[in-house]
Amino acid sequence: METMKEYIDEAEAALLHTYNRYQIVWDKGDGMYMYDIEGKKYLDFVAGIAVFALGYNNKAYNDALKAQIDKVIHTSNYYYNIPAIEAAKKLKKISQMDRVFFTNSGAEAIEGAIKAAKKYAYLRDGSTDHEIIAMNHSFHGRTLGALSVTGNPHYREAFEPLIGGVKFADFNDFDSVKAQVTDKTCAIIMETVQGEGGIYPADEAFLKDIRALCDQNDILLILDEIQCGMGRTGYMYAWQKYGVKPDIMTTAKAVGCGVPVGAFMLTEKVAAHSLTSGDHGTTYGGNPLACAAISKVIDLFEEMDILSNVRQTGDYLYERLDALAGKCPSIKAHRGIGLIQGLEFDVPVGDIILRALDKGLLLINAGTNIIRFIPPLIATKQDVDDMLAILEESIHE
Ligand SMILES: *Cc1c(COP(=O)(O)O)cnc(C)c1O
Repeated sequence: METMKEYIDEAEAALLHTYNRYQIVWDKGDGMYMYDIEGKKYLDFVAGIAVFALGYNNKAYNDALKAQIDKVIHTSNYYYNIPAIEAAKKLKKISQMDRVFFTNSGAEAIEGAIKAAKKYAYLRDGSTDHEIIAMNHSFHGRTLGALSVTGNPHYREAFEPLIGGVKFADFNDFDSVKAQVTDKTCAIIMETVQGEGGIYPADEAFLKDIRALCDQNDILLILDEIQCGMGRTGYMYAWQKYGVKPDIMTTAKAVGCGVPVGAFMLTEKVAAHSLTSGDHGTTYGGNPLACAAISKVIDLFEEMDILSNVRQTGDYLYERLDALAGKCPSIKAHRGIGLIQGLEFDVPVGDIILRALDKGLLLINAGTNIIRFIPPLIATKQDVDDMLAILEESIHE
C-alpha cells in the first residue's frame, strides 16, 4: 500500500486545489471514531461537517443502502419510485411542511427555494424585479444562486454579477431587516442558527418579528436548516424550538447521513402558487438510493431516540464549554444549542485544531477565531469528556 504522503501527493497532482486539506487520508469510520490509513484513531467532533448524524458504520443504515443497491439505484423523475414516496412522507411529517422537492446537495436546495419564491412573486404581480433580503455572515452554498444570498463578500467578489435584487441585513437585528423591505421584497432568507458564520442562533424575538413582517407584507420566509436541522439542536428542525414556521425551508447534510442529498420544502400555500410542471427539475434528485438513505435515517432517528440524546449531551457540552470559557482568558464567547456550539477565541484557532488533530481529535473552525462543535448526534457525555481533555491540552500548549 502507498503511504499517506504518496496518496496526498497524488491528490494534489489530480484535484483542483480549492481546499487546504488536513494531511490525513481516511480509511474508515466506526461510531464516533474515524481511522486513517495508518490505523490512527480520531474522536470525531466534525461529522463530515454536520453530516454523519448517526455515527459511522451504522449497520441498519448500511443494510438499507445495500438492499436498495441490489434493487435499483436510479430511475428518473419521469416515473415514481417507492423510496422517494416513503422519504417524502416521512420528511413532511418531521418538517411539518407540505411539499417536498429532492435535490443532490444543500446549495441545490437553496437554488430551488429561491426559484420558488421568485415564481410566487411573479405569479402575484407579473413583474420580475423582485428583491430578496439575506443576512450578513450567512452561508447558503457555492453555486451562483446560493452565493448570491451568502453574506460573505470575500466568497462573492470574483463571481459578480450574481443574481440581482439581493440586499443584506444584520442577523438578529430586526430594524436592519425592516430597513431593507420595499414593495418589491419577495423573500427573506436566513439560517435558523448561522453555522459557517460563527454559530449564532436566532433570537426568538427576532424570528417572531421577521415572521410577522413577512405576514404583513406577503413576503416568504425561507429558513435554511441545512446545517442546524435534522436534530442537531435537539429539535428535528431548529425553527420548531421557536414555533416560527417558514414558508419554504431547506434541508441537506444530515438528512442523508453521507449519501449526497437535500430537499426544499414548501407549505401548501406556496406550493399552490409557485413552481409547476416544467419550472424546475433534476436528473438525480429523489433517486431511489438517495431516498432509501433519507427514509432509513428518519426511521433511525426515532428508533435511536436521537433528539433526547442531543438534548442531554448538548446540555452537558454546554456546561463543560461554559466552564472552560470561564477559566480560559483567550475564549471571548460561547454560543450554540444542542450539538451545534462554538467557542470564539481572541486569536485564530488553526493551531489549536492542528494540535488536537495530532492528539487524535477532529475539530473544525467556523471563521478564523471560532471552534465549532458539530459531532455525530450519538455523542455521549463520555465523548464530551474525552473531547474536552484533548481540547484543554491543545489550548494550553
Ligand atoms: C453546507 C451548507 C449549505 C450548502 O450545502 P452543500 O451541500 O455544501 O451545497 C447551505 N446552507 C448551509 C446553512 C450550510 O451549512
